[in-house]
Amino acid sequence: MTDGTVLFAVREFPQSAGTAAEQLRRIRNELQTGGLEVRWVTTADDAQAVLRTEAALAAAVVDWDLPHAAPDAGETGGAEVLRHAGRRFHNLPVFLATAGEDLEHLPLWVAETVIGYIWPLEDTAPFIAGRIASAARGYQHHLLPPFFAALRRFDHAHEYSWHTPAHSGGVAFLKSPVGRAFHDYFGERLLRSDLSISVEELGSLFEHTGPIGAAERNAARVFGAERTYFVLHGDSTCDRMVGHFSVTQDEIALVDRNCHKSVLHGLVLSGARPVYLVPTRNGYGLAGPLPPAEIQAPSVASRTSRNPLTHGAVSPKAQYAVLTNSTYDGLCYDTLQVAQALAPSTPRLHFDEAWFAYARFHPLYAGRYGMAVGPDTFPGPDRPTVFATQSTHKM
Ligand SMILES: *Cc1c(COP(=O)(O)O)cnc(C)c1O
Repeated sequence: MTDGTVLFAVREFPQSAGTAAEQLRRIRNELQTGGLEVRWVTTADDAQAVLRTEAALAAAVVDWDLPHAAPDAGETGGAEVLRHAGRRFHNLPVFLATAGEDLEHLPLWVAETVIGYIWPLEDTAPFIAGRIASAARGYQHHLLPPFFAALRRFDHAHEYSWHTPAHSGGVAFLKSPVGRAFHDYFGERLLRSDLSISVEELGSLFEHTGPIGAAERNAARVFGAERTYFVLHGDSTCDRMVGHFSVTQDEIALVDRNCHKSVLHGLVLSGARPVYLVPTRNGYGLAGPLPPAEIQAPSVASRTSRNPLTHGAVSPKAQYAVLTNSTYDGLCYDTLQVAQALAPSTPRLHFDEAWFAYARFHPLYAGRYGMAVGPDTFPGPDRPTVFATQSTHKM
């Protein structure tokens, strides 16, 4: 593994004679000595192919007058590559390579896009390579999210492992033939990073501190939640936790009849009393969603009073409602409408979004996921507390 890749998109071929090519080769060699790999291309089309396929890029050097296959495009090859790099990467450091005299003719957006300029013949190769390598390191430093960054730092420290799991970073597997085969199959790094909650450097899942706390706050920002908690053992445990928090013994829960069995398990454990809301099933066998009439207050009240389980409940009013969003057949709700319809019937609303964590990241699903319901879309004291639980291994 290298420390990252630098794209050289320049007019000179790597094997060309001439001073400019010779200087670029020196810069490349300096970068390679420092642990960076260099992808050297000589056309805009090749540069764009690298941008599309090489996610390990950490910096780029782009020649403004790079040739391209469709020269009537109205823009120089270098301009095309700069635009593409800006779309494909977030803050990738790009240096413009120029002969020096034409800088004032460049459009303003170029100055706003590139991190700097390099004049290959005006500076020494080690100095230019040093600038590129330093920008690449800065980019990579800010690339990783909080928890993975901390895990990588910890891995670099090569600490002994005296906590669970008892295989001690995989070493225990090396003591038997079967264990050795297991170790070889998964590799040392996987077993070294199979770590315990007792590793202080990684933060605490219980106290939401350190890198784990920072990662949860980052996830809350990304998914549009007020708070996010990471849960071990899947969405099944998330469902039980939200259920446990929301209802207790002999309180009423409004439950999508087609919900996941973990929701039912949570109800068994808490001793809550379910009132089932009945989803549709059409002629093709597609199940769900709950039709709008089913979640209106009069319909919910009538189902609740007709249900013998609710007689003797702590309160005649439900404390919690839970729906599957999307259903297994890919049907999803207008969640704001659901929240408005159920608000008179429950103070807490849970969308089980096991398969639906991607919803926030495509405009097609705008307003279709739990975290779309918030103070800006549903202001005022009537908004139920909205929970969304998701299954990371289905994302
Ligand atoms: C799969 C699924 C779950 C359970 O998720 P795990 O992460 O596998 O525990 C819960 N609810 C629904 C609707 C699911 O499809």
